[in-house]
Amino acid sequence: MNAKDMETRIKELEEALETANARKARKPKESKPCHCGCGKTTFATFAMGHDAKHKGELLRSFDKGDQKAAADLINHGWYTKEQLDDREFVVNEKKAAQIEKAIKSTEAGQPV
Ligand SMILES: [Zn+2]
Ligand SMILES: [Zn+2]
Repeated sequence: MNAKDMETRIKELEEALETANARKARKPKESKPCHCGCGKTTFATFAMGHDAKHKGELLRSFDKGDQKAAADLINHGWYTKEQLDDREFVVNEKKAAQIEKAIKSTEAGQPV
């Protein structure tokens, strides 16, 4: 990039910044529905405390194998893909242990 290009680029950036500032100044703060779907309005993404509620719901869905919930958890910045993979592994391990236990008690002739 030569000096002329740089000048042009800076000019473009300055204009973009001005536009962004003008837009920000004009737009009044609007309330919007809470992201969790409760129907309340909020100036943030969530009504007070509803992020925790939403997170809990997403985790429950994720544990049932809902991949959309996984994407949302990552989008919110609450979990990384790696953390969710670890979680899935632990959940599956527990499931496997439960099934093994059920099989054993069946084999032993005890009611499940
Ligand atoms: Zn809510
Ligand atoms: Zn969400």
